[in-house]
Amino acid sequence: MLRPGKLTFYAKKNEKENYRFRTWLKIHADPEELDEKFFRLHHELFAEYDCNRCKNCCKRYRGLIPVDEVGKDAAVLGLSEAEFRTRYLKEQFDAEEHAYQTKSVPCDFLQEDGNCLLGDHKPDSCKEYPYTDQPDRMGSLLSFLNFVSVCPVAYEILERLKKEYGFTSATPV
Ligand code: SF4
Ligand code: SF4
Repeated sequence: MLRPGKLTFYAKKNEKENYRFRTWLKIHADPEELDEKFFRLHHELFAEYDCNRCKNCCKRYRGLIPVDEVGKDAAVLGLSEAEFRTRYLKEQFDAEEHAYQTKSVPCDFLQEDGNCLLGDHKPDSCKEYPYTDQPDRMGSLLSFLNFVSVCPVAYEILERLKKEYGFTSATPV
């Protein structure tokens, strides 16, 4: 598995090949078989990877706190909803996600020891990232390609998929 610090370089280096592979998958792969491969690789690779060595998703994105979780999260931290919002969240509401973004990147809830201040109350979007065990991977390939420069496991899944499908830089699309 690539070290998190190396991902930006290698994802950029492979960018053209990765987009060609996406096109190849769209044309040649069976969507259900693709979902099965993603699901298997997700569980194999995360089982042997300690996310505490990485935390790139918390370092490189803002957190997204769903509107209906703001009150609960404020209570977890012993704050009023108004205090919680002033301290951690952008004023502007993200209508597409029906959530508030945290103020900063890295995420405001990332602590120095690598843990999330919200603990088990962190949003589902954080627990589920990079979503590689979710259905309809064929429809999400574009966003997945963005994740390979952030998440070492996503990067490795993509490289293993290329091997399993016999795709190389010389494969015609
Ligand atoms: S809310 Fe927690 S898990 Fe989600 S990005 Fe922020 S620090 Fe990471
Ligand atoms: S989900 Fe991916 S980016 Fe986030 S900590 Fe784990 S390996 Fe790193």
